[in-house]
Amino acid sequence: MRDGICPKCGSNDVYKRRNGLHDGDRDGRVTLITGPLNSPSPTMAYVCANCGYFELYIDDTIKLAQISEHWERAHGQN
Ligand SMILES: [Zn+2]
Repeated sequence: MRDGICPKCGSNDVYKRRNGLHDGDRDGRVTLITGPLNSPSPTMAYVCANCGYFELYIDDTIKLAQISEHWERAHGQN
């Protein structure tokens, strides 16, 4: 998706926007729990204008490093 190609329909009609997904009360950032002090992280949203599929990425390298320290690594089955 970040390469500009939709993984669902194959269209290149893909657009992105920083903090582009807004849930009403917030400004498009999300809060990931990594400890007692959690601040909202910016996101980058990608939307396919052909089929409507979208993806959301955390756009915060410090928070991503904290996630790898505090969250459980995902494996194939569980
Ligand atoms: Zn698509």
